[in-house]
Amino acid sequence: MAYGFETLQIHAGATPDPATGARQTPIYQTTAYVFNDAEHAARLFNLQEVGFIYSRLTNPTVAVLQERIATLEGGAGAVCCSSGHAAQIMALFPLMGPGKNIIASTRLYGGTVTQFSQTIKRFGWSAIFVDTDDEAAVKAAINDDTRAIFCESIANPGGYITDLRAMANIADAAGIPLIVDNTTATPYLCNPIEHGATLVVHSTTKYLTGNGTVTGGCVVDSGKFDWSASDKFPSMSAPEPAYHGLKFHETFGNLAFTFHSIAVGLRDLGMTMNPQAAHYTLMGIETLSLRMERHVQNATTVAKWLEKDPRVEAVTYAGLESSPYFGRIKDVCPKGAGALFTVAVKGGYEACVKLVDALEIFSHVANLGDARSLVIHSASTTHRQLSEEQQVAAGAAPNVVRLSIGIENAEDLIADLDQALTAATA
Ligand SMILES: *Cc1c(COP(=O)(O)O)cnc(C)c1O
Repeated sequence: MAYGFETLQIHAGATPDPATGARQTPIYQTTAYVFNDAEHAARLFNLQEVGFIYSRLTNPTVAVLQERIATLEGGAGAVCCSSGHAAQIMALFPLMGPGKNIIASTRLYGGTVTQFSQTIKRFGWSAIFVDTDDEAAVKAAINDDTRAIFCESIANPGGYITDLRAMANIADAAGIPLIVDNTTATPYLCNPIEHGATLVVHSTTKYLTGNGTVTGGCVVDSGKFDWSASDKFPSMSAPEPAYHGLKFHETFGNLAFTFHSIAVGLRDLGMTMNPQAAHYTLMGIETLSLRMERHVQNATTVAKWLEKDPRVEAVTYAGLESSPYFGRIKDVCPKGAGALFTVAVKGGYEACVKLVDALEIFSHVANLGDARSLVIHSASTTHRQLSEEQQVAAGAAPNVVRLSIGIENAEDLIADLDQALTAATA
């Protein structure tokens, strides 16, 4: 029987603890696991048997979270790691090599733009940034060294929704995976795998945990990509010297990417999620559907109010009929366009800074997806490393603030914005 999302967000991956009957998933606060005997240990190290060896690789609390997120996303497997940025490196690591590139959307989280345009060059990788609304440009940018297309489902912070099916079709035709960052939508609002994504990455720091307590990340594998169809992905299809010539795709089938991420990625990159963080995130996911419904409801109410306000120039929420991306909601995220948008304030940069300082309920922080409402002036903070051209492309121009609408009382949020707009534009 196929359970609904609300049931799976509480139960998927978890059973009562076999040792104690504990109903809630225990925090297995341990580094290592005792082997039954020397033969058992050898089989685990050879990947001939699946089990727990050392918590850099696997931990029972983290394993429950991995299975829960994989289930909610409709994936074959998932691997958790220490942050969303770690998840992005973990997603690219098995696909890439020196000289290889990815096609990346111009509308990405500011930190991701920096990671892709600067830091990955140290590995000999590169990113070609393309406007994903221009399908011809995406196709034209792909070359023999391209190993993935990377985009966000609902892009942070510009109120942009990607046509995921169009991107998946281009990736399919090129024989490369589509990687979708689904952080701001969550699997409750959008399932990129249904639209043809091969890999889904998350910053679990945000809505999945939902209360701003721990950082974490996750890579979900659809299990549907044929890694052996070409010689582009030798980490998956060719013999792995560190495991006596084992071929991951041949041996593990639709779990090849997940096994590689644990047995090679976590083993050697060490970007491990700790069991405490997994616990907080599991607690968060239990109420994901309830929170996301309220986030969307509040965001819609607040965005509609702001849009009519004479002190406001523009509101970029895809949930507003005035948004050019409103038409994509019913395909990509039918339950709502998330709770993150930008507001252009009359009075430009200076008014934005005053607004941020005058708000009382909204916290001025570099985070999103918290139960509490948050505000940030992206151009002077998260998107500071970007050129003004990149800021505008990412929806973070100097005259806009980004709001992450929480699950408080919507009237209270409106009253707070009202008094702050008065202070900002006086
Ligand atoms: C926050 C965020 C990230 C990075 O995640 P961290 O957990 O902060 O490393 C990546 N993508 C998006 C869309 C984000 O919002």
